[in-house]
Amino acid sequence: MGECIFCKIVNKQIPSEIVYEDEHVCAFKDINPTAPVHILVVPKQHIESLNHLDNSHKELIGHIFVVAKELSDRFGVKEKGFRIVVNCGEDGGQTVNHLHFHLLGGRKFSWPAG
Ligand code: AMP
Ligand code: ZN
Repeated sequence: MGECIFCKIVNKQIPSEIVYEDEHVCAFKDINPTAPVHILVVPKQHIESLNHLDNSHKELIGHIFVVAKELSDRFGVKEKGFRIVVNCGEDGGQTVNHLHFHLLGGRKFSWPAG
């Protein structure tokens, strides 16, 4: 995982705007935001993608959603609504191979997503 950019953020080897962290999870502002609120919630453990999950990760994934919900409140988008996105693999548009959950809010999103 030596070259993984999100592992480096988690380990504070490169700077980022971390907004939440605990034993298992780290959340930081996306460097190229696509919405007024754009936060990435990542497991501290290097997991490449949703394709790499197994039953041992169930609690971790539930925890990530609870953290994301709490951040939606802290960043003022809980009431109006928000979107959580996980891109997986090439067709899913995943560009960083460390599992991450986009928390997006502060504007309206269309559906179906393009
Ligand atoms: P994805 O396309 O789902 O893999 O999303 C990767 C996200 O990581 C993109 O929204 C990027 O803007 C974001 N990103 C890449 N490098 C950094 C970084 N150093 N700090 C914060 N966000 C980053
Ligand atoms: Zn990583």
